[in-house]
Amino acid sequence: MIGAGMVGLSVAWWLSEHGHRVALIDPALAQGQSSEAGSSAALGLLMAQIFRRSSGRGWRLRQQSLALWHSWREQLERRGHSMPLRPGLLQLAANAQEWQAQQELVQQRQRQGLPLRLVQHPELETLKPALPAAAMGGLLSPDDGQIDPIPAMKALLTDARRQGLDTLAEPVLRIERSGASKTERWCVHTSSGQRRLSHWLVIAAGLSSPALLAPLGHARPQSPVLGQALELQLPADCNAELWPGSISWGGINLVPRPSGRLWLGATVEPGNTKGSPEALEELLQLGGHAPAWLQQADVVGHWQGLRARPDNRPAPLLEALEPGLLLTSGHYRNGVLLAPASAAWVLEQIQSSEPLPRL
Ligand SMILES: Cc1cc2nc3c(=O)[nH]c(=O)nc-3n(C[C@H](O)[C@H](O)[C@H](O)COP(=O)(O)OP(=O)(O)OC[C@H]3O[C@@H](n4cnc5c(N)ncnc54)[C@H](O)[C@@H]3O)c2cc1C
Repeated sequence: MIGAGMVGLSVAWWLSEHGHRVALIDPALAQGQSSEAGSSAALGLLMAQIFRRSSGRGWRLRQQSLALWHSWREQLERRGHSMPLRPGLLQLAANAQEWQAQQELVQQRQRQGLPLRLVQHPELETLKPALPAAAMGGLLSPDDGQIDPIPAMKALLTDARRQGLDTLAEPVLRIERSGASKTERWCVHTSSGQRRLSHWLVIAAGLSSPALLAPLGHARPQSPVLGQALELQLPADCNAELWPGSISWGGINLVPRPSGRLWLGATVEPGNTKGSPEALEELLQLGGHAPAWLQQADVVGHWQGLRARPDNRPAPLLEALEPGLLLTSGHYRNGVLLAPASAAWVLEQIQSSEPLPRL
């Protein structure tokens, strides 16, 4: 496995959990997660049932992932790991068109037996701290929510190591087809000159995946899309944990944190490697709709990360490129949500393949 972001760690844990011997290679394993990797910058929103489509690959992956996150969390917490997951997501309608779409979606979801419900304006007004006054209504999804990415990654790594995961904190420089034997089809070269042979190779290296694959003749270009986020300390009488979950307003997410704090994010800045101050200000002002309490909040944290968006292909890239070579990358804005479904896809590819040739 190459890459120990949320996706790579999920794959490594799920394969270990199913009895596979896994080696995970990533320089970020030495110093914790690298700050530019998407996973450590993510807010961890799990937007599955509130997704506007009701069929197709995106819908299926989201539903599968949400169910897996809930069961993975139960399993890992039983083993003593901390995996904070706050249930609930309230998506606000900023205009009549969005409110109409929410009313149609709720009917659809209720027909599917899913517990979404509309929150009408009088009820919205009772929520404290107050939501943007322009909100026309909202759609509450109690089963969607938010998971803290950093503790979740730590839990996956610690538990996978307990099950025998082998880790190497080095960058992979090059991959080649080994040609040596049918059992060891792939050869990975790392920066210290190590050569690792394997029957299966899973590439989960985010934005670096295309450069690793190109020499093998697989062009899967991806573009970086920068995201900035903020941590705020709210005024003394504000506790966002009283909301029925995280709030989504015009593409901006407000995530309640303990001790009167709030995460706010994230900007969407394609083609930018430095965060723009204007985009950050727009975020802080909720696009001109920030309630007074938000304007009085103190900024106590600011970070950014890069998302990997596939060029000309839908996200995510889950592809069996050739025998023994799997790509799981390009998760763009939903890699935290989709990590378990990606891991399940990898496991299925491996389990449904020909058994290893006998030596
Ligand atoms: C600000 C922000 C907010 C976000 N919010 C959400 C959200 O609310 N919900 C959600 O679902 N998603 C969110 N995302 C998106 C999500 O973070 C990404 O989709 C996800 O983290 C992608 O994970 P990954 O493991 O594929 O990639 P990454 O996290 O980028 O990990 C790739 C790993 O590969 C390693 N690597 C790279 N090259 C090599 C090499 N040559 N050898 C070995 N290792 C290598 C890197 O060190 C890195 O650790 C957000 C992203 C950002 C930036």
